[in-house]
Amino acid sequence: MQKTAKISYIEPVVREKREYDPFLEAVLQFERAANFLDLEPWIYQRLKHPEREVIVHLAITLDNGRSETFTGFRVQHSTLRGPSKGGIRYSPDASLNECKALASWMTWKCAVLDLPFGGGKGAIICDPLRMSENELRKLTREYTLAIRDIIGPYKDIPAPDMFTNSQTMAWIADAYRQSCGYLEPAVVTGKPLVLGGSLGRAGATGAGLFFILEEVSKYLKFDLVGKKVALLGFGNVGSSVAKYIHRAGCKIIAVTDIFGGIYSEEGIDPFQLEKQVEKSGSVTNFPNTEPIDNETLIGLPCDILIPAATEGQIHKGNVENVKAKIVLEGANGPTTLEADEILEKKGILVVPDILANAGGVTVSYLEWVQNLQRFFLSEEEVMEKTAKMMKRAFWEVIDVMEKNKVSMREAAYILGVGRVAESYRALGKAA
Ligand code: NAD
Repeated sequence: MQKTAKISYIEPVVREKREYDPFLEAVLQFERAANFLDLEPWIYQRLKHPEREVIVHLAITLDNGRSETFTGFRVQHSTLRGPSKGGIRYSPDASLNECKALASWMTWKCAVLDLPFGGGKGAIICDPLRMSENELRKLTREYTLAIRDIIGPYKDIPAPDMFTNSQTMAWIADAYRQSCGYLEPAVVTGKPLVLGGSLGRAGATGAGLFFILEEVSKYLKFDLVGKKVALLGFGNVGSSVAKYIHRAGCKIIAVTDIFGGIYSEEGIDPFQLEKQVEKSGSVTNFPNTEPIDNETLIGLPCDILIPAATEGQIHKGNVENVKAKIVLEGANGPTTLEADEILEKKGILVVPDILANAGGVTVSYLEWVQNLQRFFLSEEEVMEKTAKMMKRAFWEVIDVMEKNKVSMREAAYILGVGRVAESYRALGKAA
């Protein structure tokens, strides 16, 4: 950042905190943009903290007859530009601070894409891989009933995230239907098609990553054919981007998931790999590959590294090993701030999450619009609109980056935070 802060707003005590905290990362990223933009303190204060953080305790009876209580969260970072929008994740590592970070990243992401949404995020602390479908259904229902007053088509609209999917969204829509008396499809996005889901939503985040990668290749003037790719995470995001880049002629040389990983210099076919994952639940033991772990994958000589699993996976302990020329962030917050600075010094282009993985929320926006209008678009229309919106956002970010000589992440933050601040100014100072 060229412009230095007049005031450093963040509390010194928070600065001294050492262990990885996604919300601290998010606040520091926001603070840099706020300082660059010289934000008025009243806007800074409204955007630094989420508007609302809800904690719920959900008691269900497990299949073995035991009663158990799970803790869940829903955080609404901003509802200024529209309802808050953001996924729900099921994970043993979920936490309130993780949701706060993810919700704020959603605010900036929606603003970078100029979507009429603010940011939200939810989670339940649970181990979805060890729970039955029946238990997950009950848990989802209890969670929805616990947050029903704060969600809704004009309030806050959940979507899938890690270890949740279209089935989870259907359960939410059903619990919401039972509490309000009619099916309101616009309460969630990423639903099954029969409940008003959008064509193209399932692979939207991967498609969006690919649209952005295509623009990166035009900007840097390189051909995607033959480029070597390492992919961390093979869920919704990882598997869908893998198929696009494979079709474009890239060679996927390594893939990891929560159980392990695979490596092949000859390249891995993501279509075949997806079939295996559908059967076995993991990428491990794929024919003609060798085992590999996350740390080795991150340090592989390759052209493009795509982190598509969870936060903080490229950190100060492994960033020096990164040999990729481009890091395309599929996951939210996969690179810590310290690692980000080192990647920049190494001349590696980091295409930031709040731009790169916005394909999901962009198609979610189209799904919401279709639901509100009860009018449906074809898959071609959805993809055409998504590509157009993502490409426009890419070149807007590049413009800010070049004019201000900042990193691509900083440029995306300046654009996103700047747009939200502009909305505050337009409404006028209240309290
Ligand atoms: P998912 O649950 O479908 O897949 C997650 C993948 O990551 C799985 O392959 C899992 O095995 C793997 N994984 C989890 N922990 C791992 C670890 N420690 N090491 C290696 N692999 C690990 O989730 P998803 O929807 O693909 O989301 C992935 C990331 O993308 C998350 O950060 C999410 O917030 C972000 N994201 C998702 C969407 C979306 O539309 N689903 C949109 C934008 C961003």
